[in-house]
Amino acid sequence: MTIKTDAVIVGAGPCGLFQVFELGLHGLSAHVVDSIGAPGGQCTELYPDKPIYDIPAIPVCTAEELVERLLKQIEPFSPGMHLGEEVVEVSGDGSGPFRVVTNAGTEFECKTVIIAGGVGSFQPRKLRASGADELEDKAVFYRVRDAAQFAGRDVLIAGGGDSALDWAVALAGSARSVTLVHRRDEYRGADATVAQAKALQAAGKITMIERAVIKNIDHEGGRITGVDVRVGDNTDYTMQRLTPTDVLVFFGLAPKLGPIANWGLSITRKTIDVDTEKFQTSVPGIFAVGDINNYPGKKKLILSGFHEAALAAVAAKAHIEPGKKVHLQYTTTSPIVQKRLGVSTES
Ligand code: FAD
Repeated sequence: MTIKTDAVIVGAGPCGLFQVFELGLHGLSAHVVDSIGAPGGQCTELYPDKPIYDIPAIPVCTAEELVERLLKQIEPFSPGMHLGEEVVEVSGDGSGPFRVVTNAGTEFECKTVIIAGGVGSFQPRKLRASGADELEDKAVFYRVRDAAQFAGRDVLIAGGGDSALDWAVALAGSARSVTLVHRRDEYRGADATVAQAKALQAAGKITMIERAVIKNIDHEGGRITGVDVRVGDNTDYTMQRLTPTDVLVFFGLAPKLGPIANWGLSITRKTIDVDTEKFQTSVPGIFAVGDINNYPGKKKLILSGFHEAALAAVAAKAHIEPGKKVHLQYTTTSPIVQKRLGVSTES
């Protein structure tokens, strides 16, 4: 089924979220797609607990709080949210609707596309061990879509952050065995989860192997036959042979420009060229806001992205309704905008 909407926003970082608001003020509907499973882009992925001091009129808030506030602010416009899906295709030349497709097969027909892709799509960091690539999505996994898949299995989890620890704890009750392999002897996860994992280890429910790195995965017919783990440092180590059925890897996420490079847009050093009047790309009707765009004097700041979103919304409206003047409306005084915001006092 194709979803029809005024705008598809690629990226749910702070600028993509604020773009929903600006389009909403103009009466335009939006669907937002992000490859990671939570909204907030870099704010959520890289520094949720850090304080931000340069958001206008908010002297200080954490990155997580900023995202929460943005989500609250766009509530009146009820955008479609498609998290955990990467936009892989954008086609159209601006003379008609655009077609946007995600890697989950979701398809949109929209009048305008706004790319708020930041520094790119966040992708799981891959396990560099021989055999890992061939087994991806067969016996080596970078995300858990259905925990039931691992019930009764021998699961080897690699990583020392929240995701690795959370899944080690979560699967301890249902998997036949859970082994956590971490290259350090300190964990980056929340203290409470580390304590929980250690308690499960003491109770013999999980095995934790520290200062350990997966070096090789032997396999046959898409199944793991053995995993070689180096325990120790580069010069002083022993090798252990493990026999899990599945390997789950949680090494964090890294940004990659990814499919955006293939949409026929003018790109300079992994950023999209835009003008500064409309923030339009080289394709009419496709706009770019936030860290992803490139223009003389561009600064990768959230407030710059917010300004870009306001102007891109005006231009998107003009693109959708050619020949009609787009009037500037104050939220303070415009009854039509207040109605869209759901704060209208008029009956
Ligand atoms: P992002 O936040 O990068 O979000 C882009 C989103 O697009 C990502 O979630 C990505 O997964 C998604 N995406 C990309 N391609 C696709 C695709 N094909 N399909 C689906 N999804 C896709 N700025 C400030 O103004 N003040 C600060 O104090 C500040 N502190 C910072 C501290 C740190 C440690 C860092 C790393 C950055 C800081 N920044 C700060 C910069 C700020 O975070 C960025 O300017 C801001 O996040 C840019 O927002 P964005 O929405 O453009 O992109």
